[in-house]
Amino acid sequence: AGGAAAPPPRQCVLDPRSELRVEVPPDAPLRVRLVAGTAEIFGTELPPEGWVPIPPRSKIAIFTWHGATLELDGVTESEYHSEETPMVIYVNTHAILDARRARARAAAAQGGDLEASQGPRVIVVGPTDSGKSTLCKMLLSWAAKLGWKPTYVDLDIGQGSITIPGCISATPIEKPIDIVDGIPLEMPLVYFYGHPTPSINADVYKVLMKELAKTLERQFSGNAESRAAGMVINTMGWVEGLGYEEKLWKMLKDAVQSKPNIDVVKLQKSEGVVLRNSKYRQKTRSFRIKEYFYGIANDLAPHSNIVNFSDVSVYRIGGGHQAPRSALPIGAEPVADPTRLVAVNISTDMIHTVLAISYAKEPDEIISSNVAGFIHVTDVDIQRKKLTYIAPCPGDLPSRLLIASSLTWYEA
Ligand code: ATP
Repeated sequence: AGGAAAPPPRQCVLDPRSELRVEVPPDAPLRVRLVAGTAEIFGTELPPEGWVPIPPRSKIAIFTWHGATLELDGVTESEYHSEETPMVIYVNTHAILDARRARARAAAAQGGDLEASQGPRVIVVGPTDSGKSTLCKMLLSWAAKLGWKPTYVDLDIGQGSITIPGCISATPIEKPIDIVDGIPLEMPLVYFYGHPTPSINADVYKVLMKELAKTLERQFSGNAESRAAGMVINTMGWVEGLGYEEKLWKMLKDAVQSKPNIDVVKLQKSEGVVLRNSKYRQKTRSFRIKEYFYGIANDLAPHSNIVNFSDVSVYRIGGGHQAPRSALPIGAEPVADPTRLVAVNISTDMIHTVLAISYAKEPDEIISSNVAGFIHVTDVDIQRKKLTYIAPCPGDLPSRLLIASSLTWYEA
């Protein structure tokens, strides 16, 4: 890929409570190795020996509590030390959560009620690029290291870390998050919104959030272990600009004033958090979609398949289209139902878009159902009435009900 030749492997010594911040380029590999001491990447410890490949485009910090010597091999876009991190504050937060989990577990063992046996539910809010996802990862990995199985809930439809963009999802975290593979994807609970920003149809976003909450609540009521471990919930940047930080905090504090079991805690942002502009975000979204089909290391081969138009039904949630005046009783004003289900004709407009496969049995269950996975439309033949798509797994679609989206991805 041109560019400068890779520098030779180099050692780097980290003092206690300091970190090495590294940005990995998109097209050149980097690997790190622990030579001495202990170190972690966002809450997950580096193995005592062996090289760890750092995925392309990652922006990471290798932090050490007690000091470490590292070896780096490969190219970095930037690479610098910092002694100033909010890690002590973060780990103290973890310790408080851990005590609450233990309390919940003890209450459950003594036959306590649902409230007492409920572990902490943490929601991380703040502007974009304040390090929310990173803090979530740390809290989850530290908890998992102690044997808890907390649930990660990702409400970020723009830069979510569980599955492709446009989704809200939840998944249990049973071991510290893998540095290479990221959040485990065995059994995520995924609801499909289909757009990278909530403003397109905020009502649908809210409905899906309620459905996800309902399903999780049901799962927790039958599983004392995950109930006690609680949840860590990641959100989108709810406010614009750092100037609003104080305001957000005050607003939340006021909002929960009368609720004794909710604490609002203001945490410091790490200076290491990398700012990402909208072009970068758009690119990342595109990569996330590609990764879904081709694997993080481009090591999976998606399967191409063809279906007849008549074999599938495609719907869009929330057309935003109003009923025609002529269809309404005289005098009635047309009202748009933002969560209405609209049947979509398959057309060449769908080429390059992502469709979700719904678990719904009937169309009217689509909005309240989670999704099994995604397909990417590669061709639409109107004459023969055939749609060609790629999917990560071979075989027939698990359901004929599909959900359209505004998410696109262009094969390079
Ligand atoms: P958004 O709301 O836009 O999704 P966010 O608040 O969740 O953003 P993160 O995704 O946590 O922000 O952080 C932004 C980027 O900065 C990520 O690529 C993350 O890996 C990187 N990052 C976070 N903390 C550090 C650090 N201490 N050193 C280096 N990079 C970091």
